[in-house]
Amino acid sequence: SAYVFHFGGGARNDNPRAKDKTITGGKGSNLAEMAGIGLPVPPGFTISTEVCAQYNTAGKVFDADIKAGVAAGLVHIETATGRVFGDAANPLLVSVRSGARVSMPGMMDTVLNLGLNDVTVEGLSEGSGDARFAWDSYRRFIQMYSDVVLGVDHHRFEDALEIAKEDNGYFADVEMTADNWRKLVGEYKAIVAEELGRPFPQDVHEQLWGAIGAVFDSWESERAKVYRKLNDIPADWGTAVNVQAMVFGNMGDTSATGVAFTRDPATGEKAYYGEWLVNAQGEDVVAGIRTPQYLTKFARERAGAKPLSMEEAMPEAYAELASVFELLEKHYKDMQDIEFTVEKNKLWMLQTRSGKRTAKAALKMAVDMVGEGLIDEATAIARIDPMALDQLLHPTLDPKAPRDVLTKGLPASPGAASGVVVFDADTAERRAEMGEAVILVRVETSPEDIHGMHAAKGILTARGGMTSHAAVVARGMGRPCVSGASALSIDMAKRTAKIGNRDVVEGDIITLDGSNGDIMWGEVPMVEPELVGDFATLMAWADKHRRMKVRTNAETPLDCQVARQFGAEGIGLCRTEHMFFDAGRISAVRQMILAEDEAGRRAALAKLLPEQRADFIAIFDVMAGLPVTIRLLDPPLHEFLPHGDAEFEELAEATGLGVDHLKRRAGELHEFNPMLGHRGCRLGITFPEIYEMQARAIFEAAVEVATKSGEAVVPEVMVPLVATKKELQILRALIDRVAAQVFAEKGKTLHYLVGTMIELPRAALMAGEIAEEGKFFSFGTNDLTQTTLGVSRDDAARFLNPYVDQGIYPRDPFVSLDIEGVGQLVELAAERGRKTRPDIKLGICGEHGGDPASIAFCEKVGLDYVSASPYRVPIARLAAAQAAL
Ligand code: ADP
Ligand code: MG
Ligand code: MG
Repeated sequence: SAYVFHFGGGARNDNPRAKDKTITGGKGSNLAEMAGIGLPVPPGFTISTEVCAQYNTAGKVFDADIKAGVAAGLVHIETATGRVFGDAANPLLVSVRSGARVSMPGMMDTVLNLGLNDVTVEGLSEGSGDARFAWDSYRRFIQMYSDVVLGVDHHRFEDALEIAKEDNGYFADVEMTADNWRKLVGEYKAIVAEELGRPFPQDVHEQLWGAIGAVFDSWESERAKVYRKLNDIPADWGTAVNVQAMVFGNMGDTSATGVAFTRDPATGEKAYYGEWLVNAQGEDVVAGIRTPQYLTKFARERAGAKPLSMEEAMPEAYAELASVFELLEKHYKDMQDIEFTVEKNKLWMLQTRSGKRTAKAALKMAVDMVGEGLIDEATAIARIDPMALDQLLHPTLDPKAPRDVLTKGLPASPGAASGVVVFDADTAERRAEMGEAVILVRVETSPEDIHGMHAAKGILTARGGMTSHAAVVARGMGRPCVSGASALSIDMAKRTAKIGNRDVVEGDIITLDGSNGDIMWGEVPMVEPELVGDFATLMAWADKHRRMKVRTNAETPLDCQVARQFGAEGIGLCRTEHMFFDAGRISAVRQMILAEDEAGRRAALAKLLPEQRADFIAIFDVMAGLPVTIRLLDPPLHEFLPHGDAEFEELAEATGLGVDHLKRRAGELHEFNPMLGHRGCRLGITFPEIYEMQARAIFEAAVEVATKSGEAVVPEVMVPLVATKKELQILRALIDRVAAQVFAEKGKTLHYLVGTMIELPRAALMAGEIAEEGKFFSFGTNDLTQTTLGVSRDDAARFLNPYVDQGIYPRDPFVSLDIEGVGQLVELAAERGRKTRPDIKLGICGEHGGDPASIAFCEKVGLDYVSASPYRVPIARLAAAQAAL
């Protein structure tokens, strides 16, 4: 059959399909590969993944070709081992193992010792001269096969074994004698007969086909389906089946079984790492029946453990194993995760694959392997999951520390924080100023909480998803955040909360783990991140290999500084509205908004001008000549309005206007759908004096910093929410006019750019025309996603998750760009913009600018830069390099 591949035992291995894991699965292809490079692999055969689909669509039957293929496979194993399947005197035993392209929980568990029955067990006993071993193997087989293939609950077998041990006064399984096992086998068979109403199958071929069918059946199990859905694994991949001669780790003190990594998967340290058990089989090592021993003397001594390591107890087999480790790393050029068995001092390899590892270990191994000449820089870059870097950029909880978890929310922004619970932004700021670490706990956050979020070490909300205000702002600030914790209720009047089952009062200490959503009682110890060493090395390689620039979304000098430390090459989005919320100026902002006429607005804006100018001076200073894109005021004005009587009274006092009057004005600003309302450039068109003030602040600051530092400051003034060329034309004229005025006043001229955000479908469609007025486009993909999908990102949490669950969208489109849909608009706008203006600068500044899949798309479209929140800058640098490889 073309669907059955032999491996080991001198099988000729020239069919490339045998080593293709889409055909033979991960396990099968690596067994073939290992056998091919001369490693000791017990002979066997693999039934291809293609047969899985055939079997499941053809009504669970095998055709003659497959039957012939399996028969030939058995002959291969029989010839190689000199044993015969089902033979009374010299029986061949096999294992039946599943193996999809990627290792997948939910698939059938391995069946070992298949081929034993009442007759062959005697042959095994005679042949090995070890009756205890033979009957131990038989009882293992009956239990495993009954559990895995026949569906008999394993507890019944375990209970029977416990009773047998008790009856004999034994403590451990190893005390069981051959006769004890023989008797237990009788009991096991009785259990099976009772449960199934038919005897345990004695026909070895029936056993084999039963196991093969069970592997293919398990591809359609509920568990497997759920896993496939969660991990985007297509149903048509199928699993392969591996049938392999048994080797025995349970043949006494010269036999053993174990698992190992060629390097430490937690730290990346170049030291073998593993566990083994003497006189044991298969899953005994991980099953926790006996405590496994250390593989190396070094690890044993470091842990201060007594039982001998394999290196000490079985020096010869260990030395062979160590040379296999070396060979495998050279061959696969990666850290390997290995399963092996020693039968009477002879080593056998049963599995190898690239080992899972922590982010820290991944970095260390990649950098070390380049140093060792094992891989090149490009391979090292490709091997690191950019998102995993997140683990390294924030202080993290000491993994060894105990956790008293109260409840869980969404892991909205990574990192961890401990602090006292506070329930409002002002208290957060006040207590933080007094030097306390605070956790801001809110039902949800809004723009007016920004100062409190900044002051807090961490943010916890009861409502809101991964793209809620709290989540987005927290990620931007690099604050850990747990959002949408439904088991959190807040009583603002009493200033208490219930978190899970615990009553919490303001001032109690809690800890958040933004990487998994845990909310914990008390302070859990932290470990600080390290941005030097391997991290720095890998980042330098990434920078060498990428084409796109990486900028940051930042508006405070502190965030800008953090972003620069992380390698940002400019600011892609400076949101000026965040500056308006500052405690010292919100009152002037409100006066401006609530003014009756232009004169009133201008008076208030005059107070804001020096403040805005100071903001930009501070930012230009930090960014020292790097490009800075400043977005003019964008949100609807009502977001800045006073809330509650106290704030209105305060404002009345400051303005000399009556509370009633102010409330009436505020009411007039109410909008039914503010996100599509009076915002963005529409503010600039209707209240030009606002944009005039901002433009003036930008140019005055730029001239001042350029004069002072002698460096070129190139402001990029960005007009938000443009839909038509005319809007940009009008506002560009305004900005140019202010620039000319400022330059004339200061006697100094600067280069600057005026451009726009592309965040409305119309703008994308009309990009050719809009590019006549704008020198750059920045794709505001948050709004562009919102407006293209017609989905409000602030209200989406309720239905977006079920949407993703049902595969309507493959991923949350606010987290990872909807490349199919929104991506078309980006591509088209880039094309049309370039056609009008070949040197147009193109970037992206939505949340997607920090998402690796979206970044890969940006590279494909040929954007000049991506802009990400400060803590995502390293992720973007790496992802941009990977995209360019
Ligand atoms: P998993 O995919 O769950 O790791 P495996 O198919 O690798 O399952 O089998 C689990 C364990 O069973 C192996 O690590 C090995 O110890 C044991 N095993 C599998 N096949 C054999 C065999 N032919 N001889 C001896 N032990 C085996
Ligand atoms: Mg395995
Ligand atoms: Mg926008």
